Amino acid sequence: MLKSCSCGGEMNLMLRTVIFAKKVNISNVPVFNCSQCGRNDVFPGVKEDVGRLVGELGTRPVPHNIPFDQVHEWAGVLSQALHVSDSLQATVIAKAAEDRINQLLDLWLIASSLDDEGWKAELQSRLSQLSAQYIL
Ligand SMILES: [Zn+2]
Repeated sequence: MLKSCSCGGEMNLMLRTVIFAKKVNISNVPVFNCSQCGRNDVFPGVKEDVGRLVGELGTRPVPHNIPFDQVHEWAGVLSQALHVSDSLQATVIAKAAEDRINQLLDLWLIASSLDDEGWKAELQSRLSQLSAQYIL
């Protein structure tokens, strides 16, 4: 997945570790990286969620690591896509997203048959993280 940088270079989508306040490592954050000027842009679809996460950390966070691919479904899908392919190709990402959606829908059916409202709500929020606004 490519996008063009303001310097004219090509930006590649990759997962990187973002360090917040020199203390908190947020790993596997989807970012566009320019190979020419080195600029990094957090993937637009997850920017808001990264911002919310950082907001929750407050101004004096304790040092720790946050695996973003376990917090956010879209980062999880990209991480899964990187397991099967060396680079993030649109087709591989689409397949990984489809697999994850099917998996979540299967779980939702189980949660529904158990009338487990809490679990259903959690699965719905995970499914909404995979909606088109994040992927496009
Ligand atoms: Zn650039």
